[in-house]
Amino acid sequence: MCQIAIYPGTFDPVTYGHIDIIKRAQEIFSNVIVAVAHNPHKKPLFSVQERVAMLKKATSGMKGVEVCEFSGLVVDFAHKHKTKVLVRGLRMLSDFEYEFQMALTNRKLSPDVETIFLMPHESYSYLSAKLLKEAASLGANLSNFVPDFVEKALKKKLKTQP
Ligand code: ADP
Repeated sequence: MCQIAIYPGTFDPVTYGHIDIIKRAQEIFSNVIVAVAHNPHKKPLFSVQERVAMLKKATSGMKGVEVCEFSGLVVDFAHKHKTKVLVRGLRMLSDFEYEFQMALTNRKLSPDVETIFLMPHESYSYLSAKLLKEAASLGANLSNFVPDFVEKALKKKLKTQP
């Protein structure tokens, strides 16, 4: 039995939707490793170190949850941590196609690794980091979507963007 699950993603930045998935995974697995991808092709707003730091703060006090960065194939990261389980979040049907392709690609790369999908509470099912960044740039109040310190970091970061 696998006791460790990897939850990979960009987390640019962490939202209550991500935190909801981490909590659900933590109920099932004794250890959850939140693996923050460098993902330079996505041109993240926050550096990988900043994303890791925010996730660490957001999950501090959550038993069995660890946060680290990774680059390269997620299946290699899973092997390195001696686990076969990847967790991903499914919000709506619109996530399905991309997640399906990615899960099957990972299975082709490494048939022993399984992807498990968890659904967040419905109040987070429309929440996306991409939309949040747009809303933040227009001055929206984000208190329903991200922890306070993330909202502050987001607004500060957006101010310094060209
Ligand atoms: P990606 O890893 O595809 O670059 P993210 O870092 O935003 O994207 O998301 C990581 C994982 O968390 C993905 O499986 C995504 O579907 C899931 N996710 C993102 N936002 C939410 C949310 N609001 N509720 C549940 N899952 C989410």
